[in-house]
Amino acid sequence: MTIGKQKNIALIAHDGKKQELIAWCEKNKEILGRHFLCGTGTTARMITDKTGLPVRGYSSGPLGGDQQIGAKIVEGKIDFIVFFSDPLSAQPHDPDIKALMRIAQVYDIPMAVNRASADFMLNSLYMNEEYEHPVIDFDMIVKQRSSDLKEESVQ
Ligand code: PGA
Repeated sequence: MTIGKQKNIALIAHDGKKQELIAWCEKNKEILGRHFLCGTGTTARMITDKTGLPVRGYSSGPLGGDQQIGAKIVEGKIDFIVFFSDPLSAQPHDPDIKALMRIAQVYDIPMAVNRASADFMLNSLYMNEEYEHPVIDFDMIVKQRSSDLKEESVQ
């Protein structure tokens, strides 16, 4: 799979980290402005209000926004995540957060979980070029599994 030159970046921050993410977006406005941005509902709205960057908002995280972003990864529509999660407070939607992190790993999506990793990643040379990475061929696996299971049921 190819991560294009212009990336589809998802921005997410837990409540205790929203101001930090907004400040990070403001600082990196010029770079972020060259890409397509989206995010969970409240985070997206607050970034747009404070920085003027266009950020497409999904539902709020606790109401399924993280799951929507996970689904977009599966569809190949999100290829970079900046997720300032709060390690010091419990989240009602913890299973959704784990699911998002898992699916990002499955599809080899770069994900920054704090400011330092976001700084390093945003300043990577790969931000200005296409990036090829091997991702499991799920279509082939589905075909193989369905034919294996069909054969088993005949025996
Ligand atoms: P929010 O969701 O941007 O709607 O607050 C973020 C989250 O808590 O996952």
